[in-house]
Amino acid sequence: MGELLFTHVGLSGPLVLKASSIINFEDIAKLDAYIDLKPGLTVDALDRRVLKDFNRNSNKLLKNSLDALLPKKLIPYFITRSEIEPEKPVNQLTKEERARLVSLLKHLDFKLISLEEIDKAIITSGGVDVKNIDSRTMESKIIPDLFFAGEMIDVDAYTGGYNMQIAMSTGFLAGTSAKNKN
Ligand SMILES: Cc1cc2nc3c(=O)[nH]c(=O)nc-3n(C[C@H](O)[C@H](O)[C@H](O)COP(=O)(O)OP(=O)(O)OC[C@H]3O[C@@H](n4cnc5c(N)ncnc54)[C@H](O)[C@@H]3O)c2cc1C
Repeated sequence: MGELLFTHVGLSGPLVLKASSIINFEDIAKLDAYIDLKPGLTVDALDRRVLKDFNRNSNKLLKNSLDALLPKKLIPYFITRSEIEPEKPVNQLTKEERARLVSLLKHLDFKLISLEEIDKAIITSGGVDVKNIDSRTMESKIIPDLFFAGEMIDVDAYTGGYNMQIAMSTGFLAGTSAKNKN
């Protein structure tokens, strides 16, 4: 489904853009986002991996022992979310604390507040209903000589070039149809 970015205002990236096209129609305040930071490992396998890392770095502080697991910039935030003292040596972590770290790695949750404003949108949902457009010409079935193309039609797709294809194909068809009609 694509990459996810942590930005200074929240979550973004192709994955979030795709998700936003679905949750756009939901009550955002009632939704949560969960991120699996280690999708390739089961909880048990991840626990063994964390234990191995901690055994190798047993005298290191927690804040200095997650480099192999997480991007550097994410580590302070991640430790804050774990509610474990960052200065704690990993050989003093309890089993429960390690389980909390593993659980967060598999299930980092965020309360969703809102989507970005429309001026930040890449693609818009909604528009002129395709039922009211002749798909052979892009002409309105309601108002003769009016032709539609691109974003103004109620057709949208995930990012990846599909919307540009929609805009160009419908634009070409609408333009040639209008020319041929007149
Ligand atoms: C930052 C960004 C990244 C994107 N990335 C992707 C992507 O990776 N893949 C993908 O598929 N889609 C992507 N899109 C979406 C894609 O660009 C649009 O779906 C597509 O360009 C829509 O084409 P359009 O001709 O319908 O509208 P637009 O490209 O918006 O063209 C409308 C034109 O009409 C002009 N206009 C507006 N009002 C008037 C007026 N009153 N009189 C005269 N002219 C007017 C505007 O100035 C503009 O030039 C992206 C969009 C943005 C903003």
